Amino acid sequence: MEQTLDAPTTSGLTARQAEKHTFENNKLHKRLCRQVGQAIGDFNMIEDGDKVMVCLSGGKDSYALLDILLTLRERAPISFDIIAVNLDQKQPNFPAHVLPAYLTKLGVPFHIENQDTYSIVKRVIPEGKTTCSLCSRLRRGILYRVADELGATKIALGHHRDDIMETFFLNMFFGSKLKSMPPKLQSDDGKHIVIRPLAYVAEADTERYAALKEFPIIPCDLCGSQENLQRKQIKNMLRDWEKKHPGRVDNIFSSLSTVVPSHLMDRSQFDFANLQAGGGPVADGDIAFDEEPCASTPAPLNVITLHRQGTEQD
Ligand code: SF4
Repeated sequence: MEQTLDAPTTSGLTARQAEKHTFENNKLHKRLCRQVGQAIGDFNMIEDGDKVMVCLSGGKDSYALLDILLTLRERAPISFDIIAVNLDQKQPNFPAHVLPAYLTKLGVPFHIENQDTYSIVKRVIPEGKTTCSLCSRLRRGILYRVADELGATKIALGHHRDDIMETFFLNMFFGSKLKSMPPKLQSDDGKHIVIRPLAYVAEADTERYAALKEFPIIPCDLCGSQENLQRKQIKNMLRDWEKKHPGRVDNIFSSLSTVVPSHLMDRSQFDFANLQAGGGPVADGDIAFDEEPCASTPAPLNVITLHRQGTEQD
């Protein structure tokens, strides 16, 4: 019998649905490559001869990061090495075989660092208190040491656009600072450059990509730590805004790249004390939110009449 476009195939999808599915997946892959390539270019994240240590936690974002970097390396006009690194923190039930099996199959050089930070955190932090800040500090120190040992010139992390936005609002709401998570920064020991190539990528896209590629995800709640409620609140707030006011979150994200220090209040960023009238017009002067001049909109007749009457009386 002749196969029609609407007859189900072995995957349970009709040929038409399967075609649409493939089209959507290709679009997603292209978008991720474009956004990651753009962020790498904009911030000069990777240079010729770099050895990029990709930190792989087993979560959807770090898998997506490694996958897209491998694709871009194939196409890049420069040459750089990639080494995947996982820190096994000895959390209960961590499936230690999953990442080595995945990376071996992929043919990517990798290193698994075994360090029982879980026991340290449990010993030092009283029961019921949040363990994330000590845990992250320990992890960071270990990853910097491993980067040294491996001769890595860049450390790539899987934080994405939503992480950057959430951190921005967390710092503002709870830390009184206009500060986020930069796409590229010098490590706090001053010895490394940390990069976030997913900086322009939406979390919803890494989620879809992980499902599409069937990455062997390792759950992130093995340590038993409480969820960060403040971050959750911010996430919900952003989701809600996006639903009610489409485009608002995009605008806020773009604003992070368009800062005007002379129109904020940080005296360390702009020399307000020595500000003098210079005589000429100033770009970004105080006109941004002025009403449009009424030339384009004719004034209502009664206003013109009143004005004329006023002129006559004068
Ligand atoms: S969630 Fe667990 S593993 Fe992750 S930073 Fe917090 S304590 Fe560490």
